[in-house]
Amino acid sequence: MGRILFGICATVDDMTIYNKIAARPIDAINTGPRFQPTDAVRLNNMFRGRSTNEMLRSIFSDNLIGEIALVSSFGAESAVLLHLVSSIDKNIPVIFLDTGKHFSETLAYRDLLVERFGLNLINLNPEESDVEKQDGNGLRWSFDPDGCCHIRKVLPLEKEMAKYDASISGRKGFQSKTRNALPRFEIDTSDAHGRLKINPLADWTKEQLDPYITEYDIPPHPLVEQGYPSIGCSPCTSKVAEGEDPRSGRWKGWDKVECGIHEPVSAPLDDDGANDPIF
Ligand code: SF4
Repeated sequence: MGRILFGICATVDDMTIYNKIAARPIDAINTGPRFQPTDAVRLNNMFRGRSTNEMLRSIFSDNLIGEIALVSSFGAESAVLLHLVSSIDKNIPVIFLDTGKHFSETLAYRDLLVERFGLNLINLNPEESDVEKQDGNGLRWSFDPDGCCHIRKVLPLEKEMAKYDASISGRKGFQSKTRNALPRFEIDTSDAHGRLKINPLADWTKEQLDPYITEYDIPPHPLVEQGYPSIGCSPCTSKVAEGEDPRSGRWKGWDKVECGIHEPVSAPLDDDGANDPIF
């Protein structure tokens, strides 16, 4: 005997299947962001006054944040963070965006630090098809640096970061006026996933970095002594004069200050002073 189901005549067998479906709990897929701005504020307050080493040990061992990867340019001051992280956990993946436009000195420096610190390196290249279609002659950096960074940095990182809940960056507040309000924890706004971005060196000064480098005999990037205090891809990095903003040699002549994987930070977060720069 049939019953009216969804406006049609249904058999007993149809009703059995319908009842089974109706009884099954509905799976809920949470597609919302992993972290909210309030989580970043909470973490900044939680680790307020605690050393960088303590903070990193805690987030690695307590699994507070989930899967974490360090993103490094192997630039002028990258080695301190790479040393800090690898001395706590050598398994943390270290992502390098191999844009195809780096100085040969940077690639050699990457290999040296990987060997010296035992890093778990993930070398990311841009998609060949993207480069062929959108930067066939390799000169996009000269007329559209945002587009070039998008193909060579943003897209490969976006794809890789789908595996992680948070990234670690080596940015420091003193590097430029667009970074001077940098918090230790912030929401990664490069996509809608709401990953956390961790800046362990946010409040470090040059006066803290230098003794650390001496104490652990950390090799410098070979281009620093040639007048490059901030080092990115070779076509977009210039020497900087004494006393100039260290990042003023990046994309010189353009109003571009970040490569698209970071946003400028110009105002402290409203978190009761936890993120105020200390210098
Ligand atoms: S930094 Fe320059 S060369 Fe490197 S990806 Fe960006 S625009 Fe291209």
